[in-house]
Amino acid sequence: MPLKSHTCGELRSAHIGQMVTLAGWVHRRRDHGKLIFIDLRDRWGIVQVVFNPDTSAEAHAVAETLRLEYVIQVKGMVCRRPPGMENPDLETGEVEVAAQEITVLNTAKTPPFYINEDTPVDETLRLRYRYLDLRRQRMQRNIILRHQVVKFIRDFLCNEGFIEIETPILFKSTPEGARDYLVPSRLHPGKFYALPQSPQQLKQLLMVAGFERYFQIARCFRDEDQRGDRQPEFTQLDIEMSFVDREDVMDVVERLYTAVIEQVSDRQLLFKPFPRLTYAEAMRRFGTDSPDLRFGMELVEISDLVVGCDFRVFSETLAAGGIVKGLKVPGGASYSRKQVDELAEFVRTFGAQGLVTLALDEHGQVRSPTAKFLSEETLQSIIRRMEAQPGDLMAFVADRPSIANEALARLRVMLGDKLGLRDNKLLALCWIVDFPFLVWNEQEQRWDPSHHPFTAPMDEDIPLLDTDPGQARGKQYDLVCNGYEIAGGSVRIHRREIQEKVFRLIGLSMKEARDQFGHLLEAFEYGTPPHGGIAPGIDRFVMLLAGEPNIREVIAFPKSQSAMDLMAGAPSPVSPEQLKELHLKLDL
Ligand code: ASP
Repeated sequence: MPLKSHTCGELRSAHIGQMVTLAGWVHRRRDHGKLIFIDLRDRWGIVQVVFNPDTSAEAHAVAETLRLEYVIQVKGMVCRRPPGMENPDLETGEVEVAAQEITVLNTAKTPPFYINEDTPVDETLRLRYRYLDLRRQRMQRNIILRHQVVKFIRDFLCNEGFIEIETPILFKSTPEGARDYLVPSRLHPGKFYALPQSPQQLKQLLMVAGFERYFQIARCFRDEDQRGDRQPEFTQLDIEMSFVDREDVMDVVERLYTAVIEQVSDRQLLFKPFPRLTYAEAMRRFGTDSPDLRFGMELVEISDLVVGCDFRVFSETLAAGGIVKGLKVPGGASYSRKQVDELAEFVRTFGAQGLVTLALDEHGQVRSPTAKFLSEETLQSIIRRMEAQPGDLMAFVADRPSIANEALARLRVMLGDKLGLRDNKLLALCWIVDFPFLVWNEQEQRWDPSHHPFTAPMDEDIPLLDTDPGQARGKQYDLVCNGYEIAGGSVRIHRREIQEKVFRLIGLSMKEARDQFGHLLEAFEYGTPPHGGIAPGIDRFVMLLAGEPNIREVIAFPKSQSAMDLMAGAPSPVSPEQLKELHLKLDL
């Protein structure tokens, strides 16, 4: 017999008059002299329990000893609360349980932070006592939401004919552009497994194996520097499909995301269907391939308007092959000198030389130290191009295209936050397509795949691989939500000669390619169907659905920002015997 007949959260007026047995944690305790009130909490909610010495002197005496987070079992009668004592904030607020018996199942030390309040707590402390942190309502809600999302995904894909297949964690390097986590082999001295950066090769091999529609809620491992909001291990919904082109993959994912948002979350989907932007368009309008489409403030290039002008910051940048691009801050003309300086300081942190601003006052006059270097005609054409209204501030970066785009993209998001334009109740999903197939690696003076080495080039761009590889586009697609890339995928190369050509282009010799991917190349010779897939990240998506600021809030046991488990203390040293067994010597 379970220790409870009902959950704390389920009791309603329909239960009045029933004897119930509840079990859970002491969430709150109020001692009103004679009466002791306990808010009893379990996963399903909170209910008020009343200890009255007239009902049971024995139970009342025990209740006097209760402290927060004690684990108790209570037997009592469900009663209507006295008139005026109802609590509309609690789902069980119409009733209370009049305790007749109580058993203390366990005591608890005073927790290092409040479990019953959503007050800010130092994150280190939260991670150190994660099991207590997870007891808090917000975290319970997030983890349950995550479960609901994953369950929805599983059901949805099963209905679409997908099957779930597990792939190994101990595998061989699967390049996704990050460093591998390595696991030394005891049985094979000097050899290592790599933890998968994603199941990429394995899911492609499952297509060779004829499964046609695969998915997996897959853990991926990437040993990257912990910049920003990253985790060394994270979860992807890994998908692969045979006999499809990119439209088919995008269609399944778009229907899945639309359904999960509408049915599992309380967020509002801003666009249906999801808009599509080419990579070139996204870069032009937003300076990034993961634009936040919840608000406008698009970037506008004015290079052609200021070429050869007297303002040297502009003319010299353009002469050196740079661009002049900017955005319009509604109402920004009233910013103080200090505020404008802060914007300039902000773009400098992304490598820009500075920020040139033109304020349009309420009379439509341009106010700016720069204005005197620009003819009236030029100023007017800039105002027209920017569609600036009196009261607006125009802010420009003159720099190399990559720097101007990045700095302005960041500025746009920063201003979006500042102006309250990024409502986290709204989800703006969009597709980015037609990516460049390759990106030039300055440092190593060679091409890198812009996605991964298994992505197919566009059919019509295959000849470009021999003549002008930088111009070729790949058959890849990203799904973006509120400024985050939440999924990336592609149609794959399924013919060996093209795969070998791509390996050559990215500087892998045939021997290196065979050593690393021999199994895949070999498989491609046994009747590989055309196939493609995608891998939406689960953590970030749940974060957006939960309205949380980082993915640690939706992962039960995340690593800290310095990639440590603060609760268990990992990574940690191991014993000399363990090292010896693995044939390892430390060189620190
Ligand atoms: N393996 C890719 C990734 O992890 C996704 C894909 O191409 O399906 O980003």
